[in-house]
Amino acid sequence: TVQISPRAIVSDACASYSTLENLNSKVKPALDELTKETDFFSYYRLNLFHKKCPFWNDENAMCGNIACAVNTIDNEEDIPKIWRASELSKLEGPSAKHPGKKVQKERPKKPLQGLLGENVGESCVVEYDDECDERDYCVPEDESASGKGDYVSLVHNPERFTGYAGEGAKMVWDAIYRENCFQRSSFPHSASLGTSPVAKGPAAQDFRNVLQDAERQQILQQHQQNPSTTFAQTGLENEGECLEKRVFYRVVSGMHASISTHLCWDFLNQTTGEWQPNLGCYKARLHTHPERISNLYFNYALVTRAVAKIGPHLQSYTFCTGDEEQDAATKAKVLAVTQSAASVPQIFDESLMFKNGEGPSLKEDFKNRFRNVSRVMDCVGCDKCRLWGKLQTAGYGAALKILFEFDNDSEDIPVLKRTELVALFNTYARLSSSMKAIVGFRAMVEAEEKAT
Ligand code: FAD
Repeated sequence: TVQISPRAIVSDACASYSTLENLNSKVKPALDELTKETDFFSYYRLNLFHKKCPFWNDENAMCGNIACAVNTIDNEEDIPKIWRASELSKLEGPSAKHPGKKVQKERPKKPLQGLLGENVGESCVVEYDDECDERDYCVPEDESASGKGDYVSLVHNPERFTGYAGEGAKMVWDAIYRENCFQRSSFPHSASLGTSPVAKGPAAQDFRNVLQDAERQQILQQHQQNPSTTFAQTGLENEGECLEKRVFYRVVSGMHASISTHLCWDFLNQTTGEWQPNLGCYKARLHTHPERISNLYFNYALVTRAVAKIGPHLQSYTFCTGDEEQDAATKAKVLAVTQSAASVPQIFDESLMFKNGEGPSLKEDFKNRFRNVSRVMDCVGCDKCRLWGKLQTAGYGAALKILFEFDNDSEDIPVLKRTELVALFNTYARLSSSMKAIVGFRAMVEAEEKAT
């Protein structure tokens, strides 16, 4: 099997695997406290049920119905109902209804000014987030006319194995990776893209394979020749891909790798009914694909940088849950995370992006493509997977907005809504727990290899 040296630099980031793992052992406890123990960060508002998949209208792709689950149902007949994919996919715990338009109208609607809004009311649970900012990398959750969404407890609905698989899941991942084909513009990107079909074809697959093989080579070379060699030094540019396109791919693939890690780590053994790590699942999906692990670590570096960058601006933010003591405690927890995140300087250098060569012209395209990835999440046919898919695309969207739309020297600073903040910190927490799981899995592989 392929082993990556801990001293190897994570490509496109400015830190080694071990630096990121050490940082994570510092950040994780604070991040867990923040996301598991505060109301502000443990409830997420989203439109989970009322949006239609904008890209295809194939009922069979939805795993909630019998057609998609044909294989699973055949296999699952012998297991208790509660362990079946359809059951595992269901949301649990309290989920509050959105207060609705009436309550919103009662509040004075002020213009959103200044980072995170000077008017602290914006940070309260009821939000005015109809506004779509052209700087957003994500489709606002309530873009659809049908309903404002519900609050869902993230603590009661952990991201883990659900059994969602097959044609429906494959179609979603394929559509997501198809967005990666910058040079093969398959359809126009515009604000109204929601109704455009996703072009089909092998282009995306080719592109993905080329890049993955290249990355694999890089990682192997790094390990075998010089553990400190950076990605740029070993020359991925030879592949003809600029930094911006590569970053887009890495974000998506890193998110995919993180989801795979969680479902392998928190896996339901359908024979015993126990939740436990599944080493075979890890080996097949991650260990034998070191570039996916590299992308996950890359995302950790990217989101860490965004969290560190936003940190100073959260000092004056009011985490309004209606209880002053709790709000102060929430802020203290947020700052503990942002300060830890800032402890490794220059972990990712966003100033290199959209600057040279074709970079500047790619920014709008990059943004529109990422918005499409967020739209595709409405095609995920498993409630819990859709919840975490939407949350994580919103989290990466917020991180990208902070990195690329937020100029320290400008007065025109984008606003972050409450949902964006919740998504950002929970996405960071997902990456953090994925990284811990990877370390755990790696130890299991080593132990297994020693034993044989
Ligand atoms: P998939 O993971 O479906 O991958 C499809 C193909 O993509 C692979 O064959 C491979 O060629 C390529 N690929 C895989 N990983 C990467 C990567 N990191 N980078 C680049 N290419 C890659 N299932 C759960 O049990 N729990 C969940 O919470 C969950 N959430 C999901 C959220 C979303 C948005 C989606 C689309 C699916 C989710 N699923 C979840 C399903 C899960 O991701 C897999 O699709 C499913 O387990 C089937 O896996 P697979 O082995 O067929 O490969």
